[in-house]
Amino acid sequence: MSSRLCISFDFELGWGVLDTPEWKTREQLGWYKNLRTALNHLTDFLYANEIQTTWAMVSSMFVESITDLKISHLNHQYQEAVETFFTSCEYETRCALDCVELFNQRPDLIEVCSHTSTHLYPTLQSVSATEYVSDISNSILDLTTLFKRPVKSLVLPRDDSTFLKDLIKVEQLNVRVNPSIYNANQHFSRRSSTPASRIVLGQLGETYQSGSLFFNPSPGGRFNLLRKASFSLQLKSLIKKLQTTQKTYHVWLHPFNLVQSPIHMKMFMNFLGMVAEMELRGSTKTSTMREIGDIARRHMQ
Ligand SMILES: [Zn+2]
Repeated sequence: MSSRLCISFDFELGWGVLDTPEWKTREQLGWYKNLRTALNHLTDFLYANEIQTTWAMVSSMFVESITDLKISHLNHQYQEAVETFFTSCEYETRCALDCVELFNQRPDLIEVCSHTSTHLYPTLQSVSATEYVSDISNSILDLTTLFKRPVKSLVLPRDDSTFLKDLIKVEQLNVRVNPSIYNANQHFSRRSSTPASRIVLGQLGETYQSGSLFFNPSPGGRFNLLRKASFSLQLKSLIKKLQTTQKTYHVWLHPFNLVQSPIHMKMFMNFLGMVAEMELRGSTKTSTMREIGDIARRHMQ
């Protein structure tokens, strides 16, 4: 038996920061536009090497016209924020319809996962559990219809698990959670090493899978020398664990980080090259969140 590696991407374009001026800055830097080339390059490699990955998507990225946006369940304040973002940004900042074909080329390797419909998060002012659950249910329905495959996993925006109990009553999902939900001290060790994913089976058949943020730049968006050095250590440790243990490791990243500087992309592609080699040798196996959830249900029930 080998280790397992789950790689999940939070694919959200400007929706991830729609209520802050951050999307505008990233748009002006060309990150959302340039992301298309990076996604082509990345998926080419994933498909050629049969690497499985999970893509947590904001389903409103696949809406072309503002009249088709599902926002009536939202509180007035967030509704307004969504509309302002939608009408103020460029197409590439909000819409990913041009990427659908790319993800449909190898449905056996790409898991489509929900990252909500509008990137609503519980700590926003006056967000209710009903509103939050509706946002996720809308996204599951819309992603299932668009990609014509079941959507069984969820990534919580900003790792905020406040309404998890309300959600699980309605949707049985494989949910990615922050490792700190299990260990209050985890964030101290996260910088230099990636903890094994803790996989917990819930009472209603849902699973909770902890995942570590991987390959993120330093605060301010720069991949400076210090961050490069700490990432190299992180990477070395992860590779060793993948080769020597039988545990599951779950790492995640925002794909737009890959276009911030050429070195981001280069280092991540090197990592994927090592993953492909390890998988070929049988020392690790890449898996989606859905597959890891299915295994947990088979073994733990
Ligand atoms: Zn997000």
